[in-house]
Amino acid sequence: MKLAVFPGDGIGPEIVGVSLDVIDSLVRQFSLALDFAVHPAGLAALAKYCSTFPEQSRQAAGEADGIILGPLDTASYPKEIDGGVNASAKLRNDLDLYANIRPARSLPGVPCAIASMDLVIVRENTEGFYAGRAMHAGSGEFAPDANTAYSLRRISAHCSRRIAERAFEIARTRCRRVAAVHKANVLPLTDGIFLRECRAVSRQYRDVNYEELLVDAAAAKLVAGCHDMDVLVTTNLFGDILSNEAAALAGGLGLAASLNHGDKHAMAQASHGAAPDIAGRGIANPASILLSIALLFEHLSRTRSFPSLEQAGCSLRRAVEQTVIDPHTRTPDLGGSTTTKRFAQSVIQALPSSRVEQSEYLLRMSVGS
Ligand code: NAD
Repeated sequence: MKLAVFPGDGIGPEIVGVSLDVIDSLVRQFSLALDFAVHPAGLAALAKYCSTFPEQSRQAAGEADGIILGPLDTASYPKEIDGGVNASAKLRNDLDLYANIRPARSLPGVPCAIASMDLVIVRENTEGFYAGRAMHAGSGEFAPDANTAYSLRRISAHCSRRIAERAFEIARTRCRRVAAVHKANVLPLTDGIFLRECRAVSRQYRDVNYEELLVDAAAAKLVAGCHDMDVLVTTNLFGDILSNEAAALAGGLGLAASLNHGDKHAMAQASHGAAPDIAGRGIANPASILLSIALLFEHLSRTRSFPSLEQAGCSLRRAVEQTVIDPHTRTPDLGGSTTTKRFAQSVIQALPSSRVEQSEYLLRMSVGS
């Protein structure tokens, strides 16, 4: 199995760098037949290749079994014509990574606003209110004069149906509850199609409870404690905003994991950005990208019949959670004083080291949860 790794910008090289040490440990401890190669993406690539996402990097991503993408400082990129290519958008589009899976789970003792949060936001990733994704050619944003601009939102039955199916499949592995989040009262055509497809899919999953929530009500419900929320399925922009809200309520962006996947490709990518305010200081929380890698491993194991990767992903998630739960091994965003590197070392130490220990550990953890 081959992973293509892109460190990205800002804190990206720091959090992705230590993640590779953790992956090295997992490869040894779980005897994984897993190889990874680091490729250029981001502002460092612009200086060398005149593009923030050079052609050879695109090719490597397309050929890999899995991708790890660090955060990108897209706000600092030049125009696309001058080499500023958003690798994240490019990969989501070109590799049809239509599902963005964003869990939000508060952990015992970790400072957060909602201590009982445990939900998954399933966000459509390939259309919606994203200017580059609305049109076959040209942009979904245009301005008839200097003081007026339009933004087009594309919603299709095909994309709505496949994201709904993904949400119901995930719900079957959890509490069997799906809420479709929409704004069909003011966007009756576009969100009408989205809801129509969600309802049609819900009829094929009679064992899963289905409800609909207006996006404003969903945002309020999250803040109020989100007690009966399990899986939320929604369109691109709503999903982006709600998932960051959920992450902030569950402990912060430093814990915000995400997986982007389609039918053939999958990419681990933390939900947050390049955090330029703390870049280079060695204090960024790598938990978000490590938890994203755990999601990637679990996904690759399911889709490619690679059971040891499931164990490695599960052990990684547990080791990261254990490290975050211990106040002595937390990074400053969670009130601790550990560095990015020391956090990763603690994760490595928390991984089970022998086969027997691995099985016992996984059993103990599954009983514990
Ligand atoms: P951000 O997510 O980078 O940072 C928001 C706040 O969260 C900052 O205070 C930052 O220090 C903190 N933070 C984020 N990740 C953290 C981590 N792992 N550990 C500790 N603290 C962390 O958002 P921003 O500042 O609005 O955006 C910065 C850049 O990132 C911009 O160029 C933006 O366009 C880009 N961006 C990229 C992505 C992506 O690559 N997927 C997503 C969002 C924003």
